[in-house]
Amino acid sequence: MAWFKREKKPIENPTPVDERRVRTEGLWMKCNSCRAIIWKKDLEENWQVCPKCEHHFRLGARRRLELLLDDAHYTELDAELASNDPLHFNDTKAYSQRLHDAQKKYGMKDAIITAEGSLEGRPVICCSMEFGFIGGSMGAVVGEKVARAIERSMETRRPLIIVSCSSGARMMEGAVSLMQLAKVAAALARLDEARIPYISLLTDPTTGGVTASFAMLGDLNIAEPRALIGFAGPRVIADTIRQKLPDGFQTSEFMLEHGFLDAIVPRKELKAYMSQALNFLAGPA
Ligand SMILES: [Zn+2]
Repeated sequence: MAWFKREKKPIENPTPVDERRVRTEGLWMKCNSCRAIIWKKDLEENWQVCPKCEHHFRLGARRRLELLLDDAHYTELDAELASNDPLHFNDTKAYSQRLHDAQKKYGMKDAIITAEGSLEGRPVICCSMEFGFIGGSMGAVVGEKVARAIERSMETRRPLIIVSCSSGARMMEGAVSLMQLAKVAAALARLDEARIPYISLLTDPTTGGVTASFAMLGDLNIAEPRALIGFAGPRVIADTIRQKLPDGFQTSEFMLEHGFLDAIVPRKELKAYMSQALNFLAGPA
């Protein structure tokens, strides 16, 4: 008998591998920047910023308002405004069904929340986009809510903040969504004449018709680090101009270097930065 040799089968693990995986599923995630394994709760408490490498993950519309507004308190404006599917659009799924599903999942009628609240004691109007809601796309409702928020800003003389996170115009509403660009831009021109400050914050990603309208029209256009910002996607541009695009093309850093942005501000410094900027633009609160 070879006493040093294991003759019996090794003890089997009572839990099959598949089941073991299921137990921790959803609690941990891998940072796609530094590849560290992060506990989701840590990430949540850190406002979706990687505690190891400061990578900024996407932040939901409501969390964004909680981050920026005092005591995480705000009053929602026009919360009941909803799309009536003007084109009765169908692709792989009916647009009405898409809307219904997103409304149920996010507890909001469309891809933006417009709200009144205070930022370090100063009353402001703050709009925050939800990327999860059909790619944060801008249809008639998003356009109308932004236009109304601008009007509200003029009535109350409160500074305006819009946090963009969007894939652009909503194709399911066709030309109706494109008309929002002009409507919002005209409203912002009136806000400018009334000399009320507007801060635009671009977050990852801000593209298409949203970049082409209100996101780039701020008195101050700021962005979060490493955010994707652009109009058309890089593949479309490369195919059109038939040139290799430079490294880091369409990131906040590239945009800042080329004069499209005024500053890049890390998420945790945003509130203090905006407060200071508003003190400068509109006088102390
Ligand atoms: Zn990381």
